[in-house]
Parts: sequence; structure tokens; C-alpha cells
Amino acid sequence: MSASLATVSYLGATILFILCLGGLSNQETARRGNLYGIIGMTIAVLATVFGPRVVAGGLPWIIGAMVVGGAVGLYAARVVKMTQMPELVALMHSMVGLAACLVGFASYIDTSIAYTGAEKAIHEIEIYVGILIGAVTFSGSVIAFGKLSGKIGGKPVLLPGRHFLNLAGLLIVIYFGREFLHAGTIAQGMTPLIVMTIISLLFGVHMVMAIGGADMPVVVSMLNSYSGWAAAATGFMLSNDLLIVTGALVGSSGAILSYIMCNAMNRNFLSVIAGGFGSDGGAPAPAASGSVQPAGEVVAVSATETADLLREAKNVIIVPGYGMAVAQAQHTVYEITEYLREKGVNVRFGIHPVAGRMPGHMNVLLAEAKVPYDIVFEMDELNEDFPETDVAMVIGANDIVNPAAQEDPASPIAGMPVLEVWKAKTSIVMKRSMASGYAGVDNPLFYKDNNRMLFGDAKKMLEEVFVALKAAE
Ligand code: NDP
Repeated sequence: MSASLATVSYLGATILFILCLGGLSNQETARRGNLYGIIGMTIAVLATVFGPRVVAGGLPWIIGAMVVGGAVGLYAARVVKMTQMPELVALMHSMVGLAACLVGFASYIDTSIAYTGAEKAIHEIEIYVGILIGAVTFSGSVIAFGKLSGKIGGKPVLLPGRHFLNLAGLLIVIYFGREFLHAGTIAQGMTPLIVMTIISLLFGVHMVMAIGGADMPVVVSMLNSYSGWAAAATGFMLSNDLLIVTGALVGSSGAILSYIMCNAMNRNFLSVIAGGFGSDGGAPAPAASGSVQPAGEVVAVSATETADLLREAKNVIIVPGYGMAVAQAQHTVYEITEYLREKGVNVRFGIHPVAGRMPGHMNVLLAEAKVPYDIVFEMDELNEDFPETDVAMVIGANDIVNPAAQEDPASPIAGMPVLEVWKAKTSIVMKRSMASGYAGVDNPLFYKDNNRMLFGDAKKMLEEVFVALKAAE
């Protein structure tokens, strides 16, 4: 393939990636957006593999690597459960970081292009910064994977003087950066490069280990952004324009997502990107001193009683959470929704921005179950409607409906906006036990006078509710 054809292909792929992101921002156009992304990526891969930069003899290596990578990806996509998606995404981010590190070391020891003067300095800065971002992304994402999959405890690990440790790490990285640029030979440059890589890996571990409970969504979206910048840095090292543009698209859209997540969690965006989460955010959840212990009586209801409440309601708001994903209850939720709508009940869904374990988790599940988009609302769009709602049905959600966020300033989730389901005439919480949610915080909602608990697996209980609804016809 000629250089000009490769450039035109890259341009086409860039446009398709932008169209892809535009499409993905809306549920109705998401499928089309995804298709643009697939076509764009196919063009990008073909133009790179058959482009002018691949030397003779390199093709079998590339195809071999693609077969191995493709087979692993295909296998993972087929076997991964919907509830494991967040950790799979974290793992993929870590791969981008690792690739940036490996490409950085490879381009440093590659002497096929002889850089001199300013060009050499720029290339070495690209390598140093690329490996730095890549290493932080890699180790941070591996820890995020561990936390999301439950292999590492969710509690924040706060080292004494952690901000000073970070500052010391930064100063050492700057010092060794200078040493690296002044190194006479590749062998001399290797030591500062390796020291910086180790410090960056430790920083990634330290940064994510210090984050606990409900702050994880911000970290996940931030690592998403970092993985984009790591890809862009790889693009600079390889002088690949498409990788630079694509990395910048992922990096900036990830940064926007982080900003949205920060708003959702009521956290300061600048303190997050600077790595200095508010001390409240890092406080160990269960040990939070002074937080009010919920008290009162818990009223359990049966599926039949739940069906009665739903049948008598005119306005119902359904709040899905992580438990709906675990139970795979979305299809039964859809059936109940359609049934109630046919009976003239106004059924709507309230989606919290951090519900589930990844951004948009609930929207994906509801779309899969064919729930109409026009009855699915963001938290802000219907939070004021709860006082006029007869039944707020909480399906496997916990932290996102926890009134302690508003009522208890000592709570680790204090200040986080929540869906105010307790303001409805009756709220029904479907979950298996009294266990806390991801943030590990007790939920006073369960003890409120107008709240009812329907204990059991969400799918099983909803099926029973559906049977009870139809039986009463
Ligand atoms: P939570 O984790 O707060 O609560 C989920 C609840 O579902 C649990 O209390 C559990 O209770 C219940 N549950 C689990 N399995 C089932 C089942 N089979 N049937 C019925 N219920 C079940 O989830 P939310 O969605 O309310 O909140 C999300 C939390 O995750 C927030 O703290 C958020 O910060 C965090 N998070 C979000 C990310 C994101 O990007 N969205 C990423 C990382 C973390 P029980 O065991 O009693 O059944």
C-alpha cells in the first residue's frame, strides 16, 4: 500500500472514530456508532499492516500476534458475564498501558532510525513520558481489576504521608528524566528509564489502592482516560498519526467521563486528576467514626403483597442497581413494565450515573431487554418526582438510594447525590439480605416507615411478582 493511500485510510478511520463517539453518546444511535468504530478499526489495522512502515519479513510476526490476540479477545468476549464486564475493561486498560511501556523500551533500543540533535531529545522525551503514563495506567488498572473483581479488598489503603510519598516520587522521576536525556549511550540511559518505570508502577498501585468504596467509578473512568493518553504517547513514539488522534479521542472522552463521574459523586475534578482525592473520599467506609447507625424496624413483604402495591399504583419509578445485573433480572423487569403500562400505570426508570459497576451499566442492560428509551431517565431528570410517586421499586440497588448521603455528614458517602426513593408513598427494596452495597455503608432506607423489603434473588422475586400480578386478573 502506498504512503498516500495509507494516509487517506487513516483520515477515513479518524472520521469514523469521531462518528463512533458521537453515536455512542445516545442510546438510539449507539449500535450505529459501534458499527462506525468497527469499520474504522478494520481500516486502521489494514492500513497499518499493509502500509509502508511494515518492513519485509515483519508480516508473519504481525499476523501471528493478531491471531493470538484475536483468539484471546474472542474467547473473553464469549465467556465473560455481564457482571464481569467492568473488570474486563480494567484489564484491557492495563494492556494499553503495558503496550505503551513495551513500545517505549523497544523504540529506545531500536537503532534503525538515527535521531540527532533536537529530534533525538524530542524522541527521548516521548519515550520517557510514554513509559511513565503507560506504567501508571498498567499497574493502576491491574489494581482496579483486583478491586472490581473482589480479589483485592475494597477498603482504601492509606499510607502515612502518602502525598509526600507521591511528591517524592515525582521529584525522583523529574531528576531521572534529566539523567535520561543526558545519557551518552543506550546502556547509560537504561538505568534512569528502569528506575522511572518502577516508580511509576508503584505510583499506579499506590494511587488506586488509596481509593475505596464509592469512589471507584471515578478511578475507572480516569484510568480509561489514562489509557487513551498512553495510546497517544505510543503514537508519538511510533510517529503514527492515527494512534495519536485515536489516543487523544479516548483520553479526552475519558476525561469528560471522569468529570461527569466526579459530578455524580460530588467530588472535585481538579483534586481527582491531580491524584489528591479528598480525605473524605478515602476514608475507610465501615470505620467512619461518628456516622449514625440506622435504627428502626425492617418490614418484609411477599411477592404477592408487592404485586398488590404495584397494581394499585398510578406512578411507579423503578431504580435498578448492581444486583439487577447479578441476577440478570432485566428481562423480567421488562415484562412487568410492559404489563403495568398496558394496565395504564405510568412506569419510569431512574438511572444513577454510578449504578452498577461501570458507566452506563444499567442502560446497557435495559437496552438489551428492549425497555423503551423514552421511559428511562437520568437521576436529575426525575429525582423531584418521587413525592408524587406511589411505588419506588429498587431492584438490587443500595448505595445509590442511601439517604445517609444526605442525612449523615459523617458517612463515607456524604454529599454523593442519590435517588430519593424514600420520598415516594412506598418504596420496595429487592435484595437478598441486609448486606451493604459496594461502599460498605449501612442503609437507613431499609428502616424507614414507608419502606418494604422483598428479600430474595431479584430475578426469582420478580418472576413471582409477575405471576402474582397475572393471577389477580
Ligand atoms: P451496590 O453495590 O451499592 O448494591 C447492590 C446490591 O445488590 C447489594 O447490596 C446486594 O445486596 C444486591 N444484590 C446482589 N446480588 C443480588 C441478586 N442476585 N438479587 C438481588 N439483589 C442482589 O450497587 P448500586 O448499583 O446501588 O451502586 C453502585 C456502587 O458501585 C456504588 O457504590 C458505586 O460507587 C460503585 N461502583 C460503580 C462503578 C461504576 O462505574 N458504575 C464502578 C465501581 C464501583 P444483597 O447481597 O443483600 O443481595
